[in-house]
Order: sequence, then structure tokens, then C-alpha cells
Amino acid sequence: VVGAGPDYHSPVPSPYRPVTDGVLSRLREVLLDEEVLRDEEQRQAYARDETEDLRFLPEVVVTPSSTAEVQEVLRIAHEERVPVTPRGAGTGLSGGALPTRGGIVLSCERLNTIREVDERDMVAEAEVGVVTDDLRRAVAERGLFYPPDPSSSDVCTLGGNLAEDAAGPRSLRYGSTRHHVLGLEAVLADGSLLRTGGRNRKDVAGYDLTQLLVGSEGTLAVITAAVLRLQPAPGETLSLLAPFDSLDAAAAAVEAVCRVTPRLLACELVEREAVETVARVTPVPDELRGAEAILFLELASEDEGALFEAASALEAVLRERGSGEVKAARQAADQRRLWEVRRRVGAAVKGRSVYKECDATVPRSRLAELVRAARETAAHHDLLALCYGHAGDGNLHVNLLRGDLDDETWSDRMAAAEEELFERVLAVGGTVTGEHGIGLTQRRFLERTRGPRAVEIMRGLKGVFDPRGILNPDKVLPDEVAR
Ligand SMILES: Cc1cc2nc3c(=O)[nH]c(=O)nc-3n(C[C@H](O)[C@H](O)[C@H](O)COP(=O)(O)OP(=O)(O)OC[C@H]3O[C@@H](n4cnc5c(N)ncnc54)[C@H](O)[C@@H]3O)c2cc1C
Repeated sequence: VVGAGPDYHSPVPSPYRPVTDGVLSRLREVLLDEEVLRDEEQRQAYARDETEDLRFLPEVVVTPSSTAEVQEVLRIAHEERVPVTPRGAGTGLSGGALPTRGGIVLSCERLNTIREVDERDMVAEAEVGVVTDDLRRAVAERGLFYPPDPSSSDVCTLGGNLAEDAAGPRSLRYGSTRHHVLGLEAVLADGSLLRTGGRNRKDVAGYDLTQLLVGSEGTLAVITAAVLRLQPAPGETLSLLAPFDSLDAAAAAVEAVCRVTPRLLACELVEREAVETVARVTPVPDELRGAEAILFLELASEDEGALFEAASALEAVLRERGSGEVKAARQAADQRRLWEVRRRVGAAVKGRSVYKECDATVPRSRLAELVRAARETAAHHDLLALCYGHAGDGNLHVNLLRGDLDDETWSDRMAAAEEELFERVLAVGGTVTGEHGIGLTQRRFLERTRGPRAVEIMRGLKGVFDPRGILNPDKVLPDEVAR
């Protein structure tokens, strides 16, 4: 599958039924005309996400505009045994929204209402097609704060964030998406409606189905809305840039940096090659050029004095750990300019070359070993690698670049390098994905990461939620097929 060309279809014989004229007319009975997309040109737009160069054409795309319509679509798909791939904005990086078996892509783009921002309970209830930044802005207008901040937040949707348990720089302080979810509205594979949790900040009644659905990558249910926990805004912020003359030294400094102050919101690492990749497409401030690696840090406090105190304590530790001169940015515009470079790395790498992103995560104290493993693995397989990411969470995106390698050489080297890297990551107690999910592309690592018993339990859960296996086939579980 990896390295598939533009019109690639799965070679695996499909156990599912096709979208026949009969299925189409049933869909048209329950949806508006404009909610059923059949033209090839329209379907092509839903054939890919941001994962490598993979492409699978759906037979039909539906864009329901209410939970009731989602229920109707799933009821039909369940009866007709047609596979359904839920989709948000298609920014996923593990192939989760790819319709590998054709069938129906269920795009949540029209489920885009913020139903309520409740200041008293400090919660928002929003549909899943809402773009993450739109929710963040809407609650900010009420003086509140929704912390999850994936670098794709200007385009990705709450549904994709929930399904992947997306995280971002500020997850260091606030945790990933799952830490902000109190309840869900979801449609099961047979079209029935499930409500989990609610607005209570504490609730231990029975098994926690809310948290089971978060991170389930569209394989257990289609989430249609969520009750999200809000916070007071973090106050004034200050950003620090710490340049290092080696990537190892920057990685080794992270565990000490994270111990200094509870006011630290984010601790990100970007190596030189990543900064230079951004510089190929957009001007990069001078202070970011030249260092082998940079730690980007963000602090927050309501009290300016406390902010500067935390900054000088951090600076002292950074210098002790080998940083060059630490630069501070206090003005909002200056901070935005610096963080914009960090935010743009992913897109810049994508524009530079086909690449494989390994979403490697290790206990924070093993970060230097991860960096070493990335460099040595790339050298063994004669590939260019660059690292950047959420260092404070022990999560680095190790990007292996294809450059001008031919198809076969690239596939072979990339697969061998990925094997070696993850072998080393697992050996130090790490995991094969910190935030991008198992999806389609990382399935072969699931059992090695979780163990056979855990995977067996996951299969059992899949059978309970989706007895016919129509929801998002080929994702998460290795060799899952329809029943
Ligand atoms: C430039 C760039 C930067 C990124 N930065 C980050 C980052 O900092 N942190 C991070 O965590 N990720 C990051 N990502 C990855 C991606 O943006 C996230 O995984 C995001 O959460 C995906 O949201 P989406 O709306 O695009 O979902 P999609 O890609 O459309 O779907 C992702 C998965 O969610 C499922 N899904 C979507 N909606 C639903 C639903 N309503 N119910 C059930 N399942 C559903 C899909 O089936 C699929 O499995 C980045 C991606 C890019 C391209």
C-alpha cells in the first residue's frame, strides 16, 4: 500500500458489498441532493488525506447535516454491508480517513454548529465538523480557553481531534484532547444513537465509554458532537528561544527544563534541517538560523513578576545544560512570529519531499536516546532524517525524506528504517504513535506495542460496537475484515 500511485485501489479482495444504484437511491431518500457526491472529480477530493502519497477513491461521499442524517446513512450502510469511512478535514497523518475499500466516505463538514458555550458550567457543546480554531476563538470571545492546539488547528476539525486524541505544544501543560472531553454524542454502526458522559466534571458511573471512543479513529462509532471542558485563559505569555550547538544536548536538556516551573506551557524542539526546510518557503527570523537545534519554550502567568522570575530560572537551567544565549519574546506579535516557524515545519517538509513521519514517543528522560536512534537509523539506511516536535511530551516527529529516490529504493529503505527506529523506541519503553494514531499505516506495529492479549480485547470491543465491521475498515486493528 505504501507508495501507492495516484489512482491506486486496494489489491485486497473486498468482503464488502459495492455501492449499487439501490444503495444510492436509498441514500438520496434520506439526504439532500447536495449531500450525495458522486462525480469522480468531487470524489477525488476525498481520496486522500495528508498521509504520504496514498490515494483511495470512495464510491460515494455523503455530507450529512444532522445527527439524524448520520443515523440514516449508517442504518443503510449496515443493512447493505457497505463500508463507511468517517472524515473530518482530512489532515490526518496515519491514513485514518482513507476509504481503502471504496464504499461511503461520511464527511462531517456540515456538522459545524457550536451548539452552546455555557460560561457557568465552563463547557462548550459543539458538533464535530467545527474547525478547532473556530471553537477556540468562539470561547475566547467569552473570556474562556479551549487548550488543544494541534499545529493544524486552522483547518482540522473537532471530530478528527477526538478520533485521534490530537495534541499540540500546550499539551505539555494541559494534556491532549481527551483531557478536555466530558461527554459525546455518537452514532453506532447500526445507526443507533449513543450519548456518553455529560456536563459533570466528575462521573464514574460504569465503564468510561467517552474515553474509549476518544482515540478510536472512527472504528467504533461516528462521533457527532462533544461536550468540552473549558478553562480560564492562561494569562500573559512569554516565549523563550534556546539555541544549542548539538541536537543531543538540546534533547538531553528537556527533562531538566520541564522540572523548573509549573508556568511552562510548551517545550518544543526543532532541529536545524527543519528550520532550513521552513526557510525554503518563507522568511525565517535571523535568531532562528544557525543553531543545530532550538528549544522553543512558552510560559504563562497572570502576574508579570512571576513570569519573569520563571523565565530567569529557566534560563539558568538552559545555560547549565549547554544552551547558547537565550532570547525572550514578550510582545504578542514577536511571539507569534517565532511560533509560526514551529507551526509551519510539517507543511514545509511535505512541500519539500515525499516523506514518512514516524510519530515516535518515549519517556521524557529517554529523549536523547530517541534522537540518537533517529540519526543512526537514517545513516544505516542512507536516508535524510529530520526531527522536530513536542519534546516536553517525549514526542518527536522523525521525518524520513524520500528526496529523489526511485519507488522501490524508497519503499525498501523507508520500511527498514521505520522497523529499526521503532524497535529501538519500544526497547526504551516508548510507543509507535504519540498523537497521529495507528490508522492504516502503523497497524503492523500495534501488537508489538500493546501485546497480543490487549489486541484481542480491542478486537472484542470492535465486535461489540460494529458487529459487521463496516466502520473504517483496515484501520487500527491488523487484518480486520467484515463479518
Ligand atoms: C501540517 C500538519 C500539522 C499537524 N500537527 C498536528 C499536531 O500538532 N498534533 C496532532 O495531534 N496532530 C497534528 N496533525 C495531524 C492531524 O491534523 C490531526 O490528527 C487532526 O486531529 C485530524 O483532524 P481532521 O479533522 O483533519 O481529521 P481526518 O484526517 O479527516 O480524520 C482523522 C481520523 O479521524 C476519524 N474521524 C474524523 N471525524 C470523525 C468523527 N466525527 N467520528 C469518528 N471518527 C472521525 C477519521 O476516520 C480518521 O480516522 C497535523 C497535520 C498536519 C497536516
